[in-house]
Amino acid sequence: MGKETVELLIENAGEVVTLRGGSQKPLLGTKMKDLGIIKHGSIAVNEGKIVAVGETREIQRKFKGKETVDTEGKLVMPGFVDPHTHLVFAGSREEEFEMRIMGASYMEILERGGGILKTVRETRKASRDELMKNCEKTLDTMLEHGTTTIEAKSGYGLTTVDEVKCLEVMKVLNEKHPIEIVPTFLGAHAIPPEHKDDTHEYVSLIVEEMIPTVADQKLAEFCDVFCEKGVFDTSQSRKILLQGKEHGLTPKLHSDELSRLGGAELAVEVGAISASHLLFASENGLKEMAKQSVTAILLPAAAFSLMSSRYAEARKMISWGVVVALGTDYNPSCWVESQQIVIALACNQMRMTPSEAITATTVNAAHAINRGLRVGSLEAGKKADIAILNAPNHKFLGYRFGTNLVDKVIKDGKLVVNEGKRM
Ligand SMILES: [Zn+2]
Repeated sequence: MGKETVELLIENAGEVVTLRGGSQKPLLGTKMKDLGIIKHGSIAVNEGKIVAVGETREIQRKFKGKETVDTEGKLVMPGFVDPHTHLVFAGSREEEFEMRIMGASYMEILERGGGILKTVRETRKASRDELMKNCEKTLDTMLEHGTTTIEAKSGYGLTTVDEVKCLEVMKVLNEKHPIEIVPTFLGAHAIPPEHKDDTHEYVSLIVEEMIPTVADQKLAEFCDVFCEKGVFDTSQSRKILLQGKEHGLTPKLHSDELSRLGGAELAVEVGAISASHLLFASENGLKEMAKQSVTAILLPAAAFSLMSSRYAEARKMISWGVVVALGTDYNPSCWVESQQIVIALACNQMRMTPSEAITATTVNAAHAINRGLRVGSLEAGKKADIAILNAPNHKFLGYRFGTNLVDKVIKDGKLVVNEGKRM
């Protein structure tokens, strides 16, 4: 019997982390540790998709590659999925970093017109081209660190025109750049200065003008709200998320990050796909999230950047059957592109094991942005989004940190990063 010819064979992996079984629904509890590892593994790829995954001998018997990549015993895994980024912004906030070191809190900085509001001023001023250039660099860095799919939020425009500008930048980049960008409308990220004396007026603008505009132009899949004391309360958040839902935007939430406001409960109530942060979430809220399969997107790099001694209670969440995913929260106050660093923080600060953290940055992260059927695991029929890492096995993730372990990245079946550099 002749061999089937495929475009690409990836051979001789030390381990192939398949995460098989995670496509239909996310991996929960003890299943988060079961990565479906194939030792001495290979992958056959054709037309951008995975055709087969198995032991190298078996794959070589069945397939012939027009091209082959000999991984020489490296770790092969799904490209990372980053389910929470604030991709589009201008400027930077290094001064604020020093203020935080000197003891200023996030809310104090915001009240002094810094924080998000500084970035809003700079993003409003920036042209599309400027934003595009910034984002392209960011996306290249993310790709070089093994990330092949991201969710990206607007939220530094805070006028209809500027929010649309940021979402349009994402749309163009999604077509131009190898990374798939899943867009989220986050007009409810902060109260802009022109509405600071009447937050209800700004909520009305979001509900009556921004959401219908964004939905009409099909610029977002999700609608998110920063539900927090001093930002948007639960009743305002509910109003915005339900209006988004009415217009076909699936709800997401930033909740219970700095205080317990009942964001976890609200996420369940409005049928959100995910709730992020959750450092102060109630036990009851988290257990309800488990029942309704609302994914908890944990962002340990955000807590780290805020110099917090508190992190989300990942161990409890996993034991209660909450779907746990991990994201960078890439933004100007938490400037990190690498899910590898996030894994290190999750292991060190939240006591997730490397296996659990890998599940949370791949297949569970894919489910948090409605991409579970297409990416996040290495199974026949799924996209060939593959990272090859300079590590002998998966236990190196989190353990060896602060350096980029990525050797190669394959996106939609094409080699886009080689020797850690964008091609
Ligand atoms: Zn965020």
